[in-house]
Amino acid sequence: MLDKDILEILVCIKCKKSLSQSHDLALDCKNCNISYPIRDDIPRLVESEIIDHNG
Ligand SMILES: [Zn+2]
Repeated sequence: MLDKDILEILVCIKCKKSLSQSHDLALDCKNCNISYPIRDDIPRLVESEIIDHNG
């Protein structure tokens, strides 16, 4: 898991709200209902990497 101090400074690039980590390989924005992948312990907070759960 990411260090919680790092997690605290990461925000969603769309809504700027804080992210939560449900498992090792993704960060979730519950506000937008999207996830950002984590690869090699690096959160990929870029538009092109977003996993959209809104259908
Ligand atoms: Zn968001």
